[in-house]
Amino acid sequence: MLLRPNGFVLGMVLLAIVAAYSGTLNEVQAADQPTPAMVAQDSTAPATADADGVPVPEPSAKALRYYQSGNVLWVAATLWGLAVPALLLFSGFSAHLREWAGAIGRGWLRTIAVYAVLYLAVVYLLDLPLSYYAGFLREHAYGLSNQSLARWLGDSLKSLLVTLVIAVATLWLPYLLLRKSPRRWWLYTALAAVPLLALLLLIQPVLIAPLFDDFGPMQDKALEAKILALADRVGIAGGRVLEVDKSEDTEAVNAYVAGLLDTKRIVLWDTLLAKLDPDQVLVVMGHEMGHYVLGHVWTLFALLCLLVLATLYAVHRSLGFLIRRYRHRFGFSDPADVASLPLLVLLFSAFFLLAQPIALAYSRHIEREADRFGLEITRDNHAMATAFTILQHTNLAYPRPGPLYVLWRSRHPSIAERIEFANRYRPWEQGQPLTYGRYFGEHESSRRPPAPPQRGSQTAAPSDRPALERRWETTPTIAEPGTLAAGAFASTIRSSAKYGLPTRLVTRNHTEHL
Ligand SMILES: [Zn+2]
Repeated sequence: MLLRPNGFVLGMVLLAIVAAYSGTLNEVQAADQPTPAMVAQDSTAPATADADGVPVPEPSAKALRYYQSGNVLWVAATLWGLAVPALLLFSGFSAHLREWAGAIGRGWLRTIAVYAVLYLAVVYLLDLPLSYYAGFLREHAYGLSNQSLARWLGDSLKSLLVTLVIAVATLWLPYLLLRKSPRRWWLYTALAAVPLLALLLLIQPVLIAPLFDDFGPMQDKALEAKILALADRVGIAGGRVLEVDKSEDTEAVNAYVAGLLDTKRIVLWDTLLAKLDPDQVLVVMGHEMGHYVLGHVWTLFALLCLLVLATLYAVHRSLGFLIRRYRHRFGFSDPADVASLPLLVLLFSAFFLLAQPIALAYSRHIEREADRFGLEITRDNHAMATAFTILQHTNLAYPRPGPLYVLWRSRHPSIAERIEFANRYRPWEQGQPLTYGRYFGEHESSRRPPAPPQRGSQTAAPSDRPALERRWETTPTIAEPGTLAAGAFASTIRSSAKYGLPTRLVTRNHTEHL
């Protein structure tokens, strides 16, 4: 049920994955706009700011409201995400749905496909009011979204469609396994989910993300050249840097790494490019490249697969008991009956929610390491700290969220922690070794003259780098429509989160990002 059609679980899994890489600034949406005053902070404090450190901005009253109401919303959406399958299950509606599906579909396989479509359509409608409020009304109320209702609805329906396709293509598998191997189905399903999830990660940036956003080469060629030079230092082979048009939808800023193998890419929101100066963009890129070269996509993916396995086992252990006890209300007595889908969804969601803090803790760990990588390679503490302050203001992030928020929702360290870390982490000044220096040929931090971050200076980017161009294509060829539109796993998930795919739980008011 990994890829359970219901976007919720799928969404959670994907979201967690994405979240982790998406390292970026995704916080959020700008509070009304990244007011110039806030942004100005960074430019006003050049040398001295480095000495004293960049202060963590106090959250505005609006950011506080967004944070507090977001927590209430998260709890409500989480409960709703559990209540809907429970309702469909205990009311016996699911059994009726399966009867209708059987009448329409005839035959095992088609019955499952039709059931999946009907179920998802019903859930979509039940979720619609909440997703409209969370994804549209509320975002506009806080000045974070510029999306038109038509575009929001269009994206929401596209997300539904993507979910339907995935569900129809995969739902038969766990049911086949439930039928053939009632005792081990959870194990085989988890094993089958590994390649399926990997496939999803692989195609997401080229087939799914482009449905929602327009991707293209970077417009700022001078900045692109600097990014390429940075990529050259870490010897990144393959991959692309793309710019995605998000300004049509949002004020928020973000960047992320997505895809696997040949579809791997770093994506920068155009809003980020508009609001950060070149030095800040470079440290963000350093962070993203850290995810890239440290293999964070893979490690997080592996962890999630393990959590899915554990969760499916828990589902398996409780499934039989619940069906025996409530079969009259459910209207079915065999777990291999597709009418059991809401039960599987409900159990998976509940158990995965329990496992979620583990995935998030790991995500925060790799985000911290990506920050470290970005600092080591650029040595631009000021640029990173000020980039986070912009992120905080722009995305309406709450800098010091409470422990429960951190445990269940934070994919990144808090903004305050990140700013403080960016201020103080400078092992090269104490002659200490760099943690990741080997990735860019600096084993001893103190030896090499640190590519000093020169505020405002334009270190000319190397103009001729044929080899680099080959390895790090920033300009997708026109012959590659998929690439052009390439987005990222992250983006899809984000889209999903925002527009409805995982309609439930995923309300998108997170305070951190990048
Ligand atoms: Zn990151």
